[in-house]
Amino acid sequence: MKFCSHCGAPVTLRVPPGDTLPRHVCDACHAIHYQNPRMVVGCIVEWEDRILLCRRGIEPRHGLWTVPAGFMENGETTFQGALRETLEEAHARVEIDSLYALYNIPHINQVYLLFRARLLDTAISPGAETLEVKLCPENEIPWERIAFASIRNALAHYFSDRKRGAYPFHTGTIEPAPAKK
Ligand SMILES: [Zn+2]
Repeated sequence: MKFCSHCGAPVTLRVPPGDTLPRHVCDACHAIHYQNPRMVVGCIVEWEDRILLCRRGIEPRHGLWTVPAGFMENGETTFQGALRETLEEAHARVEIDSLYALYNIPHINQVYLLFRARLLDTAISPGAETLEVKLCPENEIPWERIAFASIRNALAHYFSDRKRGAYPFHTGTIEPAPAKK
């Protein structure tokens, strides 16, 4: 951030009085611009023994597979956000069953919330930011081509839970991927 979104003056990065972390502070209007983690909401969508996967048509990870998920918008609930992303990315109408996984990803300032959901009908098709959608059985999951560690992790738990017939809540922290040699 370079300029104040209130008054347009340049901002400086410093620790405001009484605070503990550096913030973008406007010396003209004294606004303090806090930056906080963003919430990503999405669905693991079930249809019989399959789940809904989307191939990403946008960066990052263009061309790789994921479940429908995206940034929450202001003014919506986590449920509404997950339903909206699922509709936008796969034109899929679903009913949410339960909250399934929460992942902290502190190195990119994100929190993932993934719900289990049931597909209401199979009229699915790629949205504007999606190349391809499919209902994928476990033995066809492209594990090496899943876009994000959080999603790979959640799907691994999901298929393991499904074998046991119980879906407890999962939570964890995703660490940065080790640098490629
Ligand atoms: Zn200002």
